[in-house]
Amino acid sequence: MPSLRVLRQRKAPPWFWWGLGLGLLLLALAVWALLSTYREREQRFRHQVEGELQAIGQLQVRSVAEWRERQTSQAMGLADDSAFAQLVARWIQLPGLEQEAPVRERLRILEERSLYTAAYLMDARGNLLLTSGGEVLGLAPQAEINALTRALAQDEPVLVEPRGDAFFAFPFFSVLVPLYDGSTALGGIWLVKDVRATLYPILDFWPTRSQTAESFLVQRTGEEVLVLSPLKHRPDPPMTLRLSMSHTDNPAVQAFSGSRGIVYGRDDRGQPVLAAVNAVPDTPWVLISQVHVKEALGGHLQREWLALSLPVSLVVVLAGLATTYWQWRARRRESALKQELERNMRWLESAQQAASVGFFAWDAQNQEFFLSRIARQIYGLPATGRIGLRTWVDALHPDDRKSVLARHGKSLEERLPLSAQYRIVRPCDRQQRWIQVWGEFEGQATPGGNAWLTGTVQDITERKQTEEQLASYRAALETQVRMDPLTLVANRRALDETLASECKRALRGGAPLALLMIDVDHFKAYNDHYGHVQGDQCLRQVAQALSASVGREGEMVARYGGEEFAVLLPHTTLEQAVEQAERVRHSISALGLAHACAPGGQHVTVSIGVACLEPHHHALANPSADVGVAAHALLEQADSALYEAKKAGRDRVTAYTAPPVPHAVEA
Ligand code: GH3
Ligand code: MG
Ligand code: MG
Repeated sequence: MPSLRVLRQRKAPPWFWWGLGLGLLLLALAVWALLSTYREREQRFRHQVEGELQAIGQLQVRSVAEWRERQTSQAMGLADDSAFAQLVARWIQLPGLEQEAPVRERLRILEERSLYTAAYLMDARGNLLLTSGGEVLGLAPQAEINALTRALAQDEPVLVEPRGDAFFAFPFFSVLVPLYDGSTALGGIWLVKDVRATLYPILDFWPTRSQTAESFLVQRTGEEVLVLSPLKHRPDPPMTLRLSMSHTDNPAVQAFSGSRGIVYGRDDRGQPVLAAVNAVPDTPWVLISQVHVKEALGGHLQREWLALSLPVSLVVVLAGLATTYWQWRARRRESALKQELERNMRWLESAQQAASVGFFAWDAQNQEFFLSRIARQIYGLPATGRIGLRTWVDALHPDDRKSVLARHGKSLEERLPLSAQYRIVRPCDRQQRWIQVWGEFEGQATPGGNAWLTGTVQDITERKQTEEQLASYRAALETQVRMDPLTLVANRRALDETLASECKRALRGGAPLALLMIDVDHFKAYNDHYGHVQGDQCLRQVAQALSASVGREGEMVARYGGEEFAVLLPHTTLEQAVEQAERVRHSISALGLAHACAPGGQHVTVSIGVACLEPHHHALANPSADVGVAAHALLEQADSALYEAKKAGRDRVTAYTAPPVPHAVEA
């Protein structure tokens, strides 16, 4: 049924939007709380990781500083060892194996006990003289020569920073110890340390298990930063990696831009790292202790997410289950309602079918009708297809079309309920039918708002025909009840009713009302002579003649009874009535109806009594008289006048004259 479309346009109830809004608000709050908790925990964890890293960095810095101090203090002890200086002085004065042996022994002890890789005796100009293994020839590297010169000048050991040099196959660190025999400069001891075995193990230390954590020393050389110690991921030897100062996000570069403590940046491979930057006191070194951000924070953050998302997932799953259940229930209810609706629609359809009532809906905005199957049958329209305004208008009966359109238009405009009966001409068989339409408006009355006229339509042709038949029967009956069957003029009942209403009018309006009482003369004799059938015929002819003699509106001819007739003349004075009565008498006489037994003549004549109700006179005579009394008086007066006419010889007109007033007689 197309009209179901109306029912399908349903809106969500207001509580649904409130619920949805509240739900979204709660969800937003939950997300906000979750993010805040996560951020707060993440911050706390980050501080903890940074604190740990800084502690490790500072620990290693202390270790490196202590190691360096140890190198200096050992060298100081050697510089202050005057016995050793004397041994060296003696060997220089008297070279020979005997003087050489104790010096070499001391050098060996230095190498073994103080873990020096090598210890050389050299003169003040830098020539190498002796090692623990014996005499050597050659010149020390220029850095060491310069350092010895400084050491001799200051009379204290001088350190040469670690470096790679062709002199040794490993990165090394030198300490130049000045040797004085009294005030005579003998030269110096060059102590060589392989940093791989001494310094690097300190840096290798890391208190926790980690894949990416490492510490390394850096030092600035010109516009570059030199990495002094090995890096986990680089196979090339230490002291070969140089970082340009332009790599500002590298923690080592940041260190020489003044950053200290915890910094975030990227290592030489571009990996995001978290680093503790600490300068080693009294050295040009900076220790970088770094770990990949991913390892330091990532795992924990993942665990955090997991821990936080678990309850959230649980809530989401529960909410999902609840929603699914709710939806399932709503669907079930909807399908039950649908079934019920369909059942009701079927019932409605059967009921409509039985009552021959169809359903319709008029979409004012789209100018389109939706008609139920039965409504289409009633209008004689095809069972399917669109029904526009034109189709409907064409189906209206041409005589009713204008009024129906006006009626519909008025109802639509004023949003009034519609109830109308009109004719249609069914397009299918051109049959004229009567229909009854009831409609109600719904929707917005505002322009542009969609308004619907919905209602029922019923074929009432049969009912209408029955009604028309009944009405004609009733009219005929009413006529018969008020008509004399013999003469076909009004009967006594009709006369009484009209007399009463005309009296009322006359009394109210003040216009005169005249009454003629007409009696056929010697009718008994007529009957006796001609027979009743002829008598009836005579009465009919008299009645026709009377009817022909009155014709003004409101005038009435009635059979009062037997051969007696009455003529009622509204707005007629007594004089005018007498004149009219004379005309009537002549017209009857002029009929020339033979009456062989009439004593006075050879044809039928009538006697007429005339009376008139003149309201002014009547009111003076009898002020309290009502309509009934006035009518009765008029009849009596006319009858009395008729009696006078008979008495005076018949075939004449006599006007009623009031009897003399009693006190006048007395007077
Ligand atoms: P008058 O001139 O004094 O009126 O004399 P009349 O004979 O006409 O008066 P009366 O009252 O004595 O007689 C009336 C007669 O009318 C009596 C009756 O037979 C006759 N009559 C009354 N009704 C009918 C009727 O319906 N048909 C016929 N044929 N005669 C009727
Ligand atoms: Mg009579
Ligand atoms: Mg008579």
